[in-house]
Amino acid sequence: KLSSRLQNIAQYVTEGSRVADIGSDHALLPVYLVQSGKSPSAIAGELNTGPLLAARKQVAAAGLSAKIEVRQGNGLAVLQPGEADTVTIAGMGGSLMKDILEEGFQAGKLEGVRELVLQPNIGEELVRQWLVQRGWHLAEELIMEEDGKIYELLHAVRLSPDQIKETPDIYDAGFLQVNAAAPSKQRLLLKMGPYLLRKPNAVFFKKWKSELAKLERVTAQLALAEQPGAEEKLQQFKSEMDAIQEVLQCLQTDK
Ligand code: SAM
Repeated sequence: KLSSRLQNIAQYVTEGSRVADIGSDHALLPVYLVQSGKSPSAIAGELNTGPLLAARKQVAAAGLSAKIEVRQGNGLAVLQPGEADTVTIAGMGGSLMKDILEEGFQAGKLEGVRELVLQPNIGEELVRQWLVQRGWHLAEELIMEEDGKIYELLHAVRLSPDQIKETPDIYDAGFLQVNAAAPSKQRLLLKMGPYLLRKPNAVFFKKWKSELAKLERVTAQLALAEQPGAEEKLQQFKSEMDAIQEVLQCLQTDK
């Protein structure tokens, strides 16, 4: 059975779209999308040979070798412009994900792609920042927990100039009643998620409380360290913690 993380990713994929799943590992997502009839065809991209062979095996076992192509290569290099309507990338760090997207963009691989479904394991802020920078509209976000792990899913689409005019700015931080300058508020939105912040659920609070606890441990260690630059880092972490704490407080009293 497909994990609910992958099921939720699949839900964001628009019916009828040809999908390229980058870093596909066992190709579970493309197999599910094609098997369920949501996608007519798919490309599974993999950099590493082990997972690539696992993907080929999985696709063959499902009898889908005619509809799912498994290709070896780095990021979006496996894709030709116009081949996919949807690109999915899941289960890797936000920094690598951002690099894959930017390299793909530079090489023209995202031309014709209408939506991105992304699930960074960490560093979501970098991914949201890239989306803003390259003019992708974040349409939906989800935070969920499965088997004790917390995941964030991002669904981004292209908007026409007319649609842009009609769409409210999701990065308008006006609703966030925290005592911070506009650029800091903006950063909090990129870090914590503009939709997730507007409708925080229990998993959201759990994530940020655990992030705070992590920062707490890091600062405690830094306070003991006598390395050059430790004091500066300490201040940086402390103000980050203050900001997160304030956001959580403001959201909790809102409820
Ligand atoms: N997408 C699947 C999922 O979410 O369940 C698999 C995630 S798995 C943890 C990450 C996969 O990305 C690995 O199979 C790894 O080999 C692959 N990968 C890492 N860097 C990559 C790159 N630059 N291009 C393509 N695949 C890559």
